[in-house]
Amino acid sequence: MSETLTDSIKWDADGLVPAIVQDAVSKEVLMMAYMNKESLALTLEKGETVFWSRSRQELWHKGATSGHTQKVVSLRYDCDGDTLLAQVVPNGPACHTGSYSCFYRDASGELPQGSLPAADRFAPLSELESTIAKRHAERPEGSYTTYLFDKGLDKILKKIGEETAEVIIGAKNHDKAETRAEAADLIFHLMVLLRQENIPLDDVLSELEFRHRKPTKKRTDRAAAGFPSRK
Ligand code: AMP
Ligand code: ZN
Ligand code: ZN
Repeated sequence: MSETLTDSIKWDADGLVPAIVQDAVSKEVLMMAYMNKESLALTLEKGETVFWSRSRQELWHKGATSGHTQKVVSLRYDCDGDTLLAQVVPNGPACHTGSYSCFYRDASGELPQGSLPAADRFAPLSELESTIAKRHAERPEGSYTTYLFDKGLDKILKKIGEETAEVIIGAKNHDKAETRAEAADLIFHLMVLLRQENIPLDDVLSELEFRHRKPTKKRTDRAAAGFPSRK
C-alpha cells in the first residue's frame, strides 16, 4: 500500500476508519463499515472491499459467503482523513437483509424505492436508474426488469429494437399517445441496457452536454465578433 495513503488516514483508537460504500453507477450510498490497515491493503490488492468486522473481530471480505462482492472503482479519503469513500460496482445486495442498500428506511419508515427523491423534473429518470440498479442487484421474483437481466444482453437488445420500431410506427401515424407510451418503453429499455453494460446515465448526459455546449459557444463567439450567422 502506498505510504502516503496509510499516513494520510486518521486511524481511530482501535486502528479503524469508517468506509462509506457508494454505487459508482447509481451513486446511491450502499453501506458503511470499518477498515483497518490490513483490510485497506487487501482492498487495494484485491480490488474488492475488505473490512474489519467489529462484532466478529476478524477480516471481512464482503461477499465471501454471500457472493455479493463489491468491485472497487475508486477509493477516496476526506479532508481530515477520518473517513473513506469507496465507489464500487456491487455484485448483488450490499445489505445482509437482501436490500440493495443498507439505507432502505427513513424517519417515517420504509422507503418505497429505497432511493432519495431528486428535486428536478428529470427526477423520474434518476429514480428509474436507481430502481433498475436495485432490481439488477436483488433480482426480485416476478419483476419484468429481473426477467430482462436474467435473459441477458441479447434479450435487452431485441426489446430495444422492438420498442424503436413501435416509436417509428406511432410517429408515422401521428399518434401522440402511442408515440409517448412507446418512447417511455424505449427509454426504460435503454436504461436497462446502460445498467447491463455498467454505463452511468451521467456519462450519457455529459456526452449530450459536450455536444450541446461546443457549437453554442462558437456561435456566440462569432455573433459577438459581428460575423453573420452560418447556414
Ligand atoms: P457477506 O460478506 O455478504 O458474505 O456477508 C457475511 C456476513 O457479514 C453476513 O451474514 C452478515 O452478518 C454480515 N454482513 C454482510 N453485509 C453486511 C452489511 N452491509 N452490514 C452489516 N453486516 C453485513
Ligand atoms: Zn472527516
Ligand atoms: Zn445492511
